[in-house]
Amino acid sequence: MGRCCAIIDPICAEHDNPSHPECNARLVNACSGIPRDISLLAPEPALREDVERVHDPGYLVWLEQRCAATATLGWLDSDTYITRRSFNAALYAAGGAIAAVERSIKGEHCFALVRPPGHHAECDRALGFCLVNNVAVAAKKALEQVDTIAIVDWDVHHGNGTQNSFYGTDRVLYCSVHQEHFFPYSGTTDEVGRGNGKGYTINAPLQAGSTIADYQCVFSDIFVPAIERFSPDVMIVSAGQDILFDDPIGRMNILPQDFEPLTRMLVHAARVPLALVLEGGYSPSHGAAVRHIFAALSSEGKVNAPGIPPTERTQTMVSRLKSAHRLP
Ligand SMILES: [Zn+2]
Repeated sequence: MGRCCAIIDPICAEHDNPSHPECNARLVNACSGIPRDISLLAPEPALREDVERVHDPGYLVWLEQRCAATATLGWLDSDTYITRRSFNAALYAAGGAIAAVERSIKGEHCFALVRPPGHHAECDRALGFCLVNNVAVAAKKALEQVDTIAIVDWDVHHGNGTQNSFYGTDRVLYCSVHQEHFFPYSGTTDEVGRGNGKGYTINAPLQAGSTIADYQCVFSDIFVPAIERFSPDVMIVSAGQDILFDDPIGRMNILPQDFEPLTRMLVHAARVPLALVLEGGYSPSHGAAVRHIFAALSSEGKVNAPGIPPTERTQTMVSRLKSAHRLP
């Protein structure tokens, strides 16, 4: 406990569209919350073989060619842009996630503040601002040296690409809390995994407007006991701070300081250092949220009960999940 570092990477700036919410300025804002005494590391790019553990080789060739053929700005769908250098930036972002997981295996909490984000990217397609699934690439590589990995995704959107990468395996526990009836419209409570993976995907959709009381209820009653039971060798957080109250995309009501108890609960549950990887987060208070995440990683502290109760709707959803996943 206490040792932690950050991965930052200037090459992320090569993938930029200043008039899009997922622009480099939002990363600069997020990085403003890194405390001065945190050591900073730069990643190596992910290797082709690392990325191909998750993505179809044909998709990667197509993506690389689409980027190379882009003069200034191109679009893969109505949300997802590319620049001439986006493929390179995506390889470095995936490399940042790999480096964060490697640092965590060596005993240090590590937060990779890299972009483009990854959790919507599927095996054979870009989606929702995401080109390469950074967390899935890092997790698949780590599975070559460890047995089990837990991934908690607190981004306001469901991480469809990450879920699908591990839907059939019992070696990765994927836990997502996200805004219900919202892009990408997956992540219902009855998506629980398939075959050997049945029971190793947990989805907790929350109503728009949910507060820390709802999030802490999901964490304490579902994610923490599921992680403790699973006892993972590696713990990755898909850290999307678009649940902040002032986010222009998400509609949740989380304050910057609320990230402190959420982070602490995962530190206590996992009993291994956390590897956090940036997903979304587009609001003015993103830097403050990042500062609170590092505060939780760098010091011991207890988690107080929120001052207000979770909504009845959250309590109903949580008790349904508890029985579906046979949690105490
Ligand atoms: Zn998001």
